[in-house]
Amino acid sequence: VGIARAAAPAVAADDPTGVALKYNADATKADRAAAARPGMPAAEQMCSNCQFSGASDVPDHLTCTLFPGKVVSAKGWCSSWTVKAA
Ligand code: SF4
Repeated sequence: VGIARAAAPAVAADDPTGVALKYNADATKADRAAAARPGMPAAEQMCSNCQFSGASDVPDHLTCTLFPGKVVSAKGWCSSWTVKAA
């Protein structure tokens, strides 16, 4: 029961914010090593363990504080990655 609502769109490859933040829906293709974000080995960093992500109703995708109204791939990454607080 409830009002149906459209699923949030996934951040596109040409999304301006995504481009600015070097977002890639496939973290293995993102430049994680060069960014050397602290808190976790670069090879393990992805949206699912980032502080800015949250659960979404889109399979394999998460909300991200930096992309309001959209969802990011759970296995994505961007240069704002920050280790999720325990
Ligand atoms: S801020 Fe975190 S959750 Fe959002 S796109 Fe970047 S790595 Fe993914």
